[in-house]
Amino acid sequence: MAGRKVGDLSAALIGLIGARGPLSRAEAARLLKVSPARVTQATRTLVESGILTEIGTAPSDGGRPAILLDLTTDRRRALGVKITPNHLAFSRVDLAGNAEESTSVNLNTAAPDALERIVQVVGEEVRTGSGELLGIGLALPGSLDEADALVTSAVLGWHRVPLPDMLEHATALPVFVENDVNALAIAARLYDDSLAEDFALVTIGIGIGCAFTMGTRIYRGAHGGAGELGHILVDPDGARCACGLRGCLETLIGDNALTDRAVTAGILPSGGTKDQLNAAAAAGDQRALELFRWAGEQLGRTLASLVHVVDPSVLVVSGEGVDVWSFWEPGFSPALRAHLPRHRRDLRIVVREWGEDTWARGAAALVFASPFDRVGSSSSRSQVSSLLHEGA
Ligand SMILES: [Zn+2]
Repeated sequence: MAGRKVGDLSAALIGLIGARGPLSRAEAARLLKVSPARVTQATRTLVESGILTEIGTAPSDGGRPAILLDLTTDRRRALGVKITPNHLAFSRVDLAGNAEESTSVNLNTAAPDALERIVQVVGEEVRTGSGELLGIGLALPGSLDEADALVTSAVLGWHRVPLPDMLEHATALPVFVENDVNALAIAARLYDDSLAEDFALVTIGIGIGCAFTMGTRIYRGAHGGAGELGHILVDPDGARCACGLRGCLETLIGDNALTDRAVTAGILPSGGTKDQLNAAAAAGDQRALELFRWAGEQLGRTLASLVHVVDPSVLVVSGEGVDVWSFWEPGFSPALRAHLPRHRRDLRIVVREWGEDTWARGAAALVFASPFDRVGSSSSRSQVSSLLHEGA
């Protein structure tokens, strides 16, 4: 593959220290299952180039105190890029997960020159933005064929497009691609210590998405298509979905479906928007509140099934739609718990506030977290499996 890369071991060290905090060389060698000599060699370069800093000592078994290494957070950043059907947003994110204000550019991904536009916009940012970049993380509603680095996304109108190679070629930076919901889960795992290894993350908004970790990895399935919760059949006689099937969960409780229902029910005028629906509920419109309560109930029931299948320790709810979660909640919790066995009814639910930079942060996390499953294997740079290697 074209493109400059951070060495696998170096990148693994960055990701490990980013996730766990300061570590000694011996501890890093143990966790990465490589020899201390290799770690010493890799860290020398990282310290010289200002990515890692020696920050003092900790007691060690061997008598001599071990020097701890930490990230020099103000030096290096990754560019997190989120692609949706109508725009592209990007932000520089440091190793500790702090994102700069994101920039958004309108773009129709189905247009014939969309890929060239993306390469142009991202290339421009790489050349003119401040600070050095470690790489580019791309989060999008689709999946990557790892073998040949081609991206497919029905939502974006792409079938096996070579965007990763185009971007690497244009920027000379390593490019990491991941399904957007998986990217969020990787960021959650990377930055949130309170999440246990087995958690499921669900997003609500235009689409309904889901990612789950299995052991310490993101579970992707055989073709990268795991977690398509929005396309679970909930109503055999339901409306046609964007995916071509009928009666998917998304056709009931996706943003567009809720807005359509609100128009049909006379809650909104013809041509009304999701924002207006949110506003109606916030103003106390009982019918709007009832619609959200009903949506929460549908989601709760569906997620109960998910819990039966994958048994997560925590359920994280996020996505653009959580800004009105308080309206979903009255339907959600009772429906979820009513469909769980008694001993699982105390399942922990975490609602993650949504911010402008959340996707970009997730995308950037790909760069920091990705090396982990590439330690000892140079076969793939694009599929990330999280931090989440062995013991991390
Ligand atoms: Zn569908």
